[in-house]
Amino acid sequence: MPEIPELKPCPFCGGTDLRQGIDETWVRCQCGAEGSGASDGSKQRGRDRWNTRAAPKVKPLEWEPVIDCEDEFCITPVAQYSIKVYEDGLELEAISALETEWIDFSSKDAAKAAAQEDYESRILSALDL
Ligand SMILES: [Zn+2]
Repeated sequence: MPEIPELKPCPFCGGTDLRQGIDETWVRCQCGAEGSGASDGSKQRGRDRWNTRAAPKVKPLEWEPVIDCEDEFCITPVAQYSIKVYEDGLELEAISALETEWIDFSSKDAAKAAAQEDYESRILSALDL
């Protein structure tokens, strides 16, 4: 009997709680990501497909400076982000069609990383993984 290969972590969330049904060839992660099945019914081929699938990459946000201050902003199809620099700290503002959120950060790098994470989660949530 051929050895069944180990499943690699989910390329989308890094999760290792993966399922392959008894009579199924596809592999599914708890995050909703699902590998393609094998039309010949081969469980091993379904596992191989899971192990070789690539995660979609979301482009990095492109920040624009605001003239005459240290603020920066970024407009995307799914949300608008702005970093507002105040004397007592930084604030990241995320505006989407559904909500506006303000979060305090101590550095621009941290604010940009949070914006990137938010942006990626919005983009990936729209994909059928
Ligand atoms: Zn996952």
